[in-house]
Amino acid sequence: MAAQSKPNYWWSLFTMKCPRCRKGPMFVNNNPWNLKKTLKMPEKCPECNQRYELEVGFWYGTGYVSYGLTVMMYIIGFALWWFIIGMSTTDDRFVWWLCINTTLIVFLQPWIMRLSRAVYLYFFVRYDADYKNTKTKTFDYETGDYYHKEE
Ligand SMILES: [Zn+2]
Repeated sequence: MAAQSKPNYWWSLFTMKCPRCRKGPMFVNNNPWNLKKTLKMPEKCPECNQRYELEVGFWYGTGYVSYGLTVMMYIIGFALWWFIIGMSTTDDRFVWWLCINTTLIVFLQPWIMRLSRAVYLYFFVRYDADYKNTKTKTFDYETGDYYHKEE
């Protein structure tokens, strides 16, 4: 029923929409390079009321995600460079790659920080087409059930 209108997972993730309704924005300001507001998020999704910070200190886990993303970008960057420009032990191409790739990652850092939060939250909160009639996702400490029960 809701399948046709379901927003695409990757599109929603990369545009940083709420994982539950895939409509509400996760961040207050659209531009991650507005550094004062890079990590500023509404407390709850304006569309479906889903809380973003599921528990105090919830975002600490994103450190691992951003580390993983950074490593991945070095690997992809290396593969691309190898494919397009090539590598050689007799010239500076490796050094150039390292400098350019590092500069790029530093520049992308605010975006990576946001993406890490999105990836992390998407891991815990599933899409819910019927979000208007169901309860938002919370961590249930009574049962220790951190995941959706109906799945
Ligand atoms: Zn939402």
